[in-house]
Amino acid sequence: MIRKIHDYFYNNELDIRRRLYTLSGFMTLFILMVLAAEVLIFTRSIEQFAPIFGILVIHALIGVVTLKTRRIKTGAVLSNILMCFVFYPFVFINGGGVEGSGPIWFIFNIFMINMVLDGVLRSVLSVLEILLTIAGYVISFYLPDLITPVSGAMFYIIDITTLILVATDIAIVISMENRLNMLQMEKMKEQGEEIQGLVASQNKFFSSMSHEIRTPINTIIGLNEMILRENISDEIAENAINIRSAGKMLLNTINDILDMSKFQSGDMTLLEEEYETGSMLSDIVGMMWLRSKEKNLDFTIDVSPDVPAKLKGDEVRIKQILTNILNNAIKYTKEGYVKLFVECEKKEDRTVTMIYTVKDSGMGIKKEDIPYLFTAFKRVDESNTKHIEGTGLGLSIVKQFVDLMGGTVTVNSVYTKGSAFVVEIPQKMVSDEEIGEYNYEKRHKLEKRPEYKKHFEAPDAKLLVVDDNDSNLLVVTKLLRDTKMQIDTAKNGQEALERTLEKPYDLIFMDHLMPEMDGIEAFHAIRNQVGGRNRETNIVILTANAGAENRKLYATAGFNGYLVKPVTGEDLEAEVYRQIPRNLIKVLDDTGMESSETISWLNETRKKRRIVITTESTCDLPKKLIDKYNIVVFAYKVKTDEGIFRDGIEIDTPGLLRYMEDATKAVNPVPPSVEEYENFFAGVLANANNVIHLSLSSEFETGSFRIAKEAAGAFDRVTIVDSRHMSCSQGMMAIMAARMAEAGMGVGEIVPALETRLYSRIHASFMLDNLSYLARSGQISKGYARFMNALMLHPISIMKKGKIVSKSVLMGSRERVWKKYIKKSLSGFKADHMVLFVNHVGLTKKEMEWIRSEIEKRESFNAIYFEQTSPVVAISCGPGSFGISVMEKV
Ligand code: ADP
Repeated sequence: MIRKIHDYFYNNELDIRRRLYTLSGFMTLFILMVLAAEVLIFTRSIEQFAPIFGILVIHALIGVVTLKTRRIKTGAVLSNILMCFVFYPFVFINGGGVEGSGPIWFIFNIFMINMVLDGVLRSVLSVLEILLTIAGYVISFYLPDLITPVSGAMFYIIDITTLILVATDIAIVISMENRLNMLQMEKMKEQGEEIQGLVASQNKFFSSMSHEIRTPINTIIGLNEMILRENISDEIAENAINIRSAGKMLLNTINDILDMSKFQSGDMTLLEEEYETGSMLSDIVGMMWLRSKEKNLDFTIDVSPDVPAKLKGDEVRIKQILTNILNNAIKYTKEGYVKLFVECEKKEDRTVTMIYTVKDSGMGIKKEDIPYLFTAFKRVDESNTKHIEGTGLGLSIVKQFVDLMGGTVTVNSVYTKGSAFVVEIPQKMVSDEEIGEYNYEKRHKLEKRPEYKKHFEAPDAKLLVVDDNDSNLLVVTKLLRDTKMQIDTAKNGQEALERTLEKPYDLIFMDHLMPEMDGIEAFHAIRNQVGGRNRETNIVILTANAGAENRKLYATAGFNGYLVKPVTGEDLEAEVYRQIPRNLIKVLDDTGMESSETISWLNETRKKRRIVITTESTCDLPKKLIDKYNIVVFAYKVKTDEGIFRDGIEIDTPGLLRYMEDATKAVNPVPPSVEEYENFFAGVLANANNVIHLSLSSEFETGSFRIAKEAAGAFDRVTIVDSRHMSCSQGMMAIMAARMAEAGMGVGEIVPALETRLYSRIHASFMLDNLSYLARSGQISKGYARFMNALMLHPISIMKKGKIVSKSVLMGSRERVWKKYIKKSLSGFKADHMVLFVNHVGLTKKEMEWIRSEIEKRESFNAIYFEQTSPVVAISCGPGSFGISVMEKV
């Protein structure tokens, strides 16, 4: 019996409310039975006993019916109504009113209502019960005759037993609820871990499958490229081109599956870089033109001339979005046309919404199918599409990327007539230059067979390629044949070590997964080889392991570069060009002359930067300077009741301030994790040889210096600098660092300069308009904030030796305080008049102009930048606050 009861209450399959209802029902029944027995024994009056017994029976009946029909909510309401509005008034009036056990039952009822009911019903019944009690007390006072008095031992006994039983009941129900909730949480945690485990093993499966498929495709695509470079007949060339496009299709499918699994595990991130709109569109047209020609479709592209020539965003993913939609348009169109329209809407904040429309005259989509188009693995209208190849992944990936970029994708389609997909994506503008008129079609119609262009030769360069797969070795050797490099091969780590002991190489390409000694082990062995002649040689991993997590793995190990199979000749040449010393390279094209195309290819290839300066959510750095100096900013996160957003990327300051106008909304900064930092650094290292990261002052307890430092420990080429500044001045440090990097200084020179001389040259201060925001984020007490606000006191904080210290407190009207603050922030030192930063929270244009003129009244600066602080900073400052940072003249 006890076992059964135990199993019932701990049966996680059953709803918690149902179990609580059963428990409290039994407890109530028990108390009623004791009470009925006591009344019968003490009063021996059937009149007193009968009503209580009747209520007891009704209560039991409600319980039985409820458990049988499983209508817990109705049962709970009925039981509570019975206890609150029948039993309670009866006990109150017949049991001595306020002096009897009535008040105890009041507490009992309120407790039960709140335990087993929810929503409006809970509030309504609670209020009614309270009103009833007030009425009971009023009656007791004004009309005491209506209440039956109780006296004597009987009264005490009934009262004390009721009190003990009710208190015990409450204690048992509460502890039971706690226990059940805890069990539920444990179960959810277990389920969460189980799901994570499943996702992890699914990801593992996908990535190993991808590895296995990439290896043979590498051979197919690589050797096919060699065939295309030969002097062959048009027929053979056509076959080879078909092999290439089939290889690429297969590769696309694998990439789609990998992307999907990354989205599922939440690991998908975007890379933001400058790109040329024209060359991106040319690439797309190049791919689509061939495919549409094969199907005899008319493919056209219409680009509005006002589209910006250069944009900033994730070019690769935008190409992926467009090729997925265009591929579908070609796939699902038998005859007619496929058209791509490119337009834009420019915004004031130097962003632009790119609008891509893909129209086709194909089979169209049924209205009822449109809502399911973007569901993964879902193909619609299967009776008509089943003969067309597809996985149903393409549009789901499109949708997820577009969402990640903050854009939209919409579909208009007339079944059997055709479809139009419209993708709108916000991008940053780099310059005002427009794309103008450009005939992409002509350019691509001229192109018959892709021609190999030789960009450079390096006959004196020595290359070692390590791979356990003969075909892979063959592919790399052949694809690099025309560079005339001296290429040696090794079939495993051991063999590689023999070679590196004998001969100095200029570059090593290393596979990862090899039997016995894998690529990472071989890498470390070469770096530490006693008597080795390649301890300093650049080593690039050349692997079939794709994906950001692998990129991170190799960057952490210390590899100088990362190439994913299948590689093209162009990829290999570009990497060689990046990695080997300049003096070994002879730039030329087929004619032995430097053509403009060669030069642009070489410039493109040189993209990888020597040193990149990174910093965290800053509030002084204008976008213009971030872009100019190629500074990469790592965004913190902001947690609101609506979810967690990336600072300044997924949430902006004006929006956040509007949201915070509702004082009940909780808003907090979320400190980044070590893993997030690691991913960030790995991403930056893809385009940089070294990273110098400026972190907020290590004196801040909430700062991320230690976290960044721990993450950097995983990389050889990431250095963390304690900026000893707050976010409103570390951007200035970042600019100084970037200038030094541009001037050709090395990490070893820049870091000590920042840490010893430069940090103290920046004079930064900040004035809070009112302290309630700081109190809201828990950094000061609410009482103190109220006190300061009431007296119109504005504290000014400055940075001293890495700590924020309070410099002074200004008092009075806004205008007076602002004037005083501006004066104070410029006094006591000689300012460098190059630049001054004002970072503010929600100032109006007029206010900014006023501040500018006040500054200029005192000193004139070549440039004064006003920058709105990012949301993560604005949280604690609130609107009307601002800070000034300047550099001291040397
Ligand atoms: P698939 O690999 O099947 O093409 P997608 O996710 O790309 O997967 O597309 C999902 C489904 O949407 C397709 O199976 C097809 O039925 C429909 N579809 C997509 N694009 C078009 C189009 N341009 N015309 C008609 N149907 C389309």
